[in-house]
Amino acid sequence: AAMREERIEKTKTVCTYCGVGCTFDVWTKDRKVLKVEPQHDSPANGISSCIKGKFGWDYVNAEERLTKPLIRDGESFVEVEWDQALSYVAKRFSEIKDENGADALGFISSSKATNEESYLMQKLARQAIGTNNIDNCSRYCQSPATKGLFRTVGHGGDSGSIDDIAEAEMVITIGSNTTESHPVLASRIKRSQKLFGQKLYVFDLRKHEMGQRADQFFQPKSGTDLVWLSAVTKYIIDQGWENRTFINKWVNGFEEYKESLSTFTLEYAEKLTGLTKDDLIGIAKQIVRVDKLAICWAMGVTQHQLGSDTSTAISNLLLITGNYMRNGTGAYPLRGHNNVQGCSDFGSMPNFLPGYEEVEDDTARNRYENAWGVKIPNKPGKDNHEMIKAIHDGELHSLYVLGEDTGIVDANINYVTAAFEKLDFFVVQDLFLTETAKYADVILPAAPSLEKEGTFTNTERRIQRLYKALDPLGDSRPDWEIIMNLANRLDYNWKYANPADIMDEAASLAPLFAGVRYDRLTQYNSLQWPVHADGTDTPLLYADGFPFDDHKARLYPLDFELKHDTNETYDLHVNNGRVLEHFHEGNMTYKSTAISSKIPNAFIEVSPELAEERGINEGAKVRLTSESGEVTGLVHITDRVRGKELFIPLNDNGKTAVNYLTNNNVDKDTNTPSYKEIAVKMDVLKQK
Ligand code: SF4
Repeated sequence: AAMREERIEKTKTVCTYCGVGCTFDVWTKDRKVLKVEPQHDSPANGISSCIKGKFGWDYVNAEERLTKPLIRDGESFVEVEWDQALSYVAKRFSEIKDENGADALGFISSSKATNEESYLMQKLARQAIGTNNIDNCSRYCQSPATKGLFRTVGHGGDSGSIDDIAEAEMVITIGSNTTESHPVLASRIKRSQKLFGQKLYVFDLRKHEMGQRADQFFQPKSGTDLVWLSAVTKYIIDQGWENRTFINKWVNGFEEYKESLSTFTLEYAEKLTGLTKDDLIGIAKQIVRVDKLAICWAMGVTQHQLGSDTSTAISNLLLITGNYMRNGTGAYPLRGHNNVQGCSDFGSMPNFLPGYEEVEDDTARNRYENAWGVKIPNKPGKDNHEMIKAIHDGELHSLYVLGEDTGIVDANINYVTAAFEKLDFFVVQDLFLTETAKYADVILPAAPSLEKEGTFTNTERRIQRLYKALDPLGDSRPDWEIIMNLANRLDYNWKYANPADIMDEAASLAPLFAGVRYDRLTQYNSLQWPVHADGTDTPLLYADGFPFDDHKARLYPLDFELKHDTNETYDLHVNNGRVLEHFHEGNMTYKSTAISSKIPNAFIEVSPELAEERGINEGAKVRLTSESGEVTGLVHITDRVRGKELFIPLNDNGKTAVNYLTNNNVDKDTNTPSYKEIAVKMDVLKQK
């Protein structure tokens, strides 16, 4: 037994399946993942974890893992050695740059890869190529939340920690299926509700488990959260219930903002949202009754044409009620992917250098130019959405996508894949032959989190280290090594011995991370940004004021126009989101037999009313058609949805992928696709 125990290794790692950022020891023996063991000193989760974190690891040994670089040969791919693949990529990048300029190349980074890898990807784009065409999948989800916070309070991150959400007297969640998307965080809320009577108000289209557990559950009509938020805010101000002391000391623009609310009367809100006047008054009263309010929100808010404005309305409400600057209060956009926060933080954005300094800011840009010995364009590059359009327009000739199944997760699959076909040169770096990789000219085999070192940043801005538990499978390599290999083929002499070296460079250049060092992050130690040079970090933002010149926050006036609706032909609305068992498009979780045996496919939720009206049986096969495309799937009848609302889990890399239905509409401020605004018609193909 002792011998056997000796061969078991325990390695600290960070979960890759959501932004909660659970950490645990993973037990391995040779290449086998035996179990994960959360530790008491895991900052985000203590001894908890969910099904994905506990069982979702066998994909690392999946037969489908790519273990060799692949180069396209007609309709198929041939395996090649790294040397050949890297030389070829470098040669094609250089040729395209010489012929069409640096802005003819685009780069998409991964919110599942590490901070260090995001840093290197944007460095590759900016230094070795000379373009700001670099983005990541926060464009698909979180950019509107970040925008709303930048406008009002100045930092694009959660105000406090998960502990603060647990400590609040009242939690409001909007457009968040917290139990399934952020399971361990949801259990913290449920615990607070049970143990000390924390009030939980849930707003969502769909009555999921959080809706069932809420003290009050509201189903505003799709896309109208901005309206009820602004109406409640107006009502509070009209009653003189706003926090005057807080506003006088810490908030700019009150009078102008107050005037801008004039249209948001209770009558107007009742008509548009479907919530009653009594509902709205009750919500306002409950909000001002408590001393500590935290608001959590997710894709149900952001993935709309008014996603940034709705996020802004949340922050406005928190400001007028004084719910910032103290523990137990604040704004909590719940970050979806394990490192969607960090990927943006470390500069994989077209307008921001690492640490959210604008590329247009000469002082900041010069700092990088001096360190890297190149000129960086002083205008923002193209975001994901603009890159796809630029391919169609013949302006973007080459794309390098790292760890993102853009062809499934971007809106309007048919439009996106048609763009891939127009590319002169397409590089995909991933674990598997994804739907996106099938269009590539070169596929580079990457190594997942268990096979490398680095850091992830969770939803509470917490930077945590992951250690290498296994060697990379076959010839696969960690993303940071591949990016470095490429930079060196392009004659830039990068010499990082390990991810710690990369972090040292990022910390030396980005003030937000000045004190981030690996020796301050050993094992279960973590740091929440901003991290000062002496190593002190910031669990609670804004404790001494807001990061603007006068240290005051800013109310941001908004207006509203209903952006979408169903019509006679497309008479049903499709909502979409996660299920507990799967992650994102499912490239990893569908390859975990433990998980995919539970939920093998996506399904289509139909309300009992609609099923009855159309005579549809449980398990019937239906086709949904939108203006962009169609999907087929099996019906599940449930009162989680009501009326003409349908729901599809977004995690399906096959025939039920919701993005065959989504279109090119975007949030007006960030270009985030309005994934939640889809009108379809439904045809029954086969009754069960
Ligand atoms: Fe992983 Fe999120 Fe589950 Fe924690 S809650 S184990 S981070 S998927």
